[in-house]
Amino acid sequence: MRVLDQLFGHEETLEGLWRTSARGRLPHALLFEGPSGIGKFNAALRFASGLLCATGPGAPCGTCPPCKRMRSGGRRGNHPDLYLVDPVEEAREGSSAKKVLTVSIKIERIAVRGGDEDCAEGFLRLVSVEDGWRIVILRDAHLMQAPAQNALLKTLEEPGKNTLLILETSQAADLLPTIRSRCVRVNFERLPLETTEKVLVQEGLEFSVAGTLAAWSGGAPGEALRLDREGCIGIRELFLTVQTGERGAFGAVAELWKLPGEFIGSTPKARDRHRARVALDVLVDLLGDELRLAEGVAPELLAQRELAVSGALRVTNPVMLSRLIQSCLELRAAMAGNVSPDATMERCFLLLEESRVTTEAVFR
Ligand SMILES: [Zn+2]
Repeated sequence: MRVLDQLFGHEETLEGLWRTSARGRLPHALLFEGPSGIGKFNAALRFASGLLCATGPGAPCGTCPPCKRMRSGGRRGNHPDLYLVDPVEEAREGSSAKKVLTVSIKIERIAVRGGDEDCAEGFLRLVSVEDGWRIVILRDAHLMQAPAQNALLKTLEEPGKNTLLILETSQAADLLPTIRSRCVRVNFERLPLETTEKVLVQEGLEFSVAGTLAAWSGGAPGEALRLDREGCIGIRELFLTVQTGERGAFGAVAELWKLPGEFIGSTPKARDRHRARVALDVLVDLLGDELRLAEGVAPELLAQRELAVSGALRVTNPVMLSRLIQSCLELRAAMAGNVSPDATMERCFLLLEESRVTTEAVFR
C-alpha cells in the first residue's frame, strides 16, 4: 500500500487532522471534499492508516503490526478495523464493464435490517479489534442512492464510541443537506503542477507526457492518469492534424478508431461510444484553450500550454470557436441517446474541417 510510505500533497491537511485526534477532538464524521482525481481517497486511506498505526495518531510508521496489516492487503489494506466502500473499483472487479458506467452505492452497503456486519452500519457497531478506532471510508459518497443516504443518516445520528466515518466526494451537492451538516468538511485543493508531475512519473509515465498531462488535468493526478489511459494526447494530435489540413475529416475518423486507449463497454459498439465521448471532451478542451488564447489569455496559463507556447494552437475567430464548441457540446449531449458513434465523429470532424476552410477563406 503505497500511501503508507508516501503521499504527494495534502500532508499538511492530514497532519492537522492527526493533531485534532491526538487532542481527542476528532469528529465522528468527516467529509473529504474537492475536485475529482486529486487524491482525496488516498488521503483518506493514509489518514486512517495513521490513526490505526501503533505509533499514531500521525504519519503511519509502516512497520508496526497494524501498518503491516494495511500493507498486506494491496491498495486497500487488510485491517480488521477499516471498512471500505469503493463503488467504482468494486463494479470494475466484480462484473460487466457496463455496470461501471451506472455504478451506485446501494443501501445494502450502508445498513442491513437485522444488523449483518457486512455493511457500514453493522461494521461500526462491532468493537474494535485493536481497542482503537473503527473506521469506514465511503469513496464517491455522492453515488449513494437515496435509501442509502437515508440509512446513513441514522448512523450519523448515533455514532458509536471510537467510530469514524469518512465520506469522500467531488460532488457534495448530491448528498442530502442533513448528511452534509452532520459531517465536518475537510477541503482538498488541486496539487501544484510540479507535484502532479512527480506523482505521474512515480506512476510510470514518461517525463514529457507527465508534464503535458499535469497541466492538462490542472493538478489532478487521477484525472491525468485517466487522460493517459484513454490515449487523449493521441486523440488531440488527430484533431490538430485536421485543423492544419494535414488530414481530411474522413481519414481522421478512420484513424480515431485505431488509436490506442482503454475504453469501457461490453461490446465493441459500447467501447466506440465511450471513445467518441472522450474524443468530444478532448476537442472541447482544445477549442476552449484556442478560444482563451484568441481572447488574450497568456499561453503559459492554459491547460494546453505546451501547444500554445510552441504555436501549435490556432488563433482564429472567437465567434466561430464558440459556435464550434457549442456544436461539440450538442454532439456530446446527443451521445446519451442511441446515436451512432461513427456518424457523430464524422459530423464532428467535418465541422472542424469546415471551420478551417472558412478561416482560411476569411484570412486570405
Ligand atoms: Zn505503524
